[in-house]
Amino acid sequence: MKRITPMILAALLLGAASASAGLKVVATTSDLGNLAALVGGEDVEVSILCPGDSDPHYLPAKPSLARKLGKADLLVYNGLELEVAWLPPLITKARNPKVRPGAKGDLDCSTALTEILDVPGRGADRGQGDIHPLGNPHYNLDPRAMVLVAQRMAARMGELDPDHAADYARRADAFAQAMRGKLREWETAIAPVRAGHILLYHQTWTYLVHWLGLDVYGEIEHRPGIAPSPKHVQQMVERGRELGDVIVVAATWSHIDVARRTAERIGAPLAVLPAATGAEDGIDGYIQLIDTIVARLVAAAGERGGP
Ligand SMILES: [Zn+2]
Repeated sequence: MKRITPMILAALLLGAASASAGLKVVATTSDLGNLAALVGGEDVEVSILCPGDSDPHYLPAKPSLARKLGKADLLVYNGLELEVAWLPPLITKARNPKVRPGAKGDLDCSTALTEILDVPGRGADRGQGDIHPLGNPHYNLDPRAMVLVAQRMAARMGELDPDHAADYARRADAFAQAMRGKLREWETAIAPVRAGHILLYHQTWTYLVHWLGLDVYGEIEHRPGIAPSPKHVQQMVERGRELGDVIVVAATWSHIDVARRTAERIGAPLAVLPAATGAEDGIDGYIQLIDTIVARLVAAAGERGGP
C-alpha cells in the first residue's frame, strides 16, 4: 500500500511537539490528542488522558489526570458517553472552571458528527450495563468523521485564541486534504474484504465497516460492554459456519481470547486490530493507524474461505 509521503507527514506534524505553546489542550483519547496536535501545531500544548493501548471505556481516574485537567484551557473529548465512567469525576476533581460542562473550553467532539450509528430505538431495552446508551461512540475510526472533528476543533481553538484562528483553520484544511487522498486509497485497497462477512467482538469497528462498506453479520458481544452468553456465541458460530467467508475482528486491548476461540470454532481468521493511535509500537499517527487496519483486514481476507 502507498504510504503518506514524509513531506506531507512532516507538514502535518510541524510544530506539534513544540514546548513553548500557548493554548493548553487536554484530549481524552490518543486519536483526539493527535488531531488536536495537528490542528493546533505550534500554538498548543497537548496532553492525553487515555493512552492508545488502553480501552477508553474504562480508565482509572488517577489524581495525576485531574492535575493535567486542572491546567487545561481546552478539553476535547469523544462524548456519546465513551468516557462517562471516568471523565465527570476527573472534571469535578480538577476544579477548573475553564473546562466545566458548558464552558468555552469544553468541547464534546461528537457534536461535529452528521450521523451517529447504533442509536437505541425509543423504548428499547438497553439492558443493564450497556455502555453505548446514546449510540455508538467509536467514530474515531471513520476518517470522514475525524475531518469534521478537526474543523470543529479549529473553530473552538480560534475562539479561545483569536490571534491564531487562521492558523488553526489552515491546519484543519491541510488534514482534510491529506484525508481526501488517503480515503480513495483505503477505499480501493479494501475491495477484497468487501466480498465476505465480518464478525465483530465489540462495536469498536462499526463506523469503520460502515465507511468501508463491509458486511457485518453480528457482534460476539450481544450488548456493548456485557460478556456474551454461550447461547449467543453459539448462534454467531453457527451463522459464521454457514456463511463460510468470515473474518473475526477484535481490538488489541479487548477480549482477544474469546474472539480467538470463536474464530477457531467458525474456522475463520482472526484480525486483531489497533483501535487508536499508539495502540501498538510504531502506530504514532492517525494515517498509520488506518493504514495498519486496512492492511490487516486485507491480509485476513486472503486467509478466509469462500462462501
Ligand atoms: Zn464501545
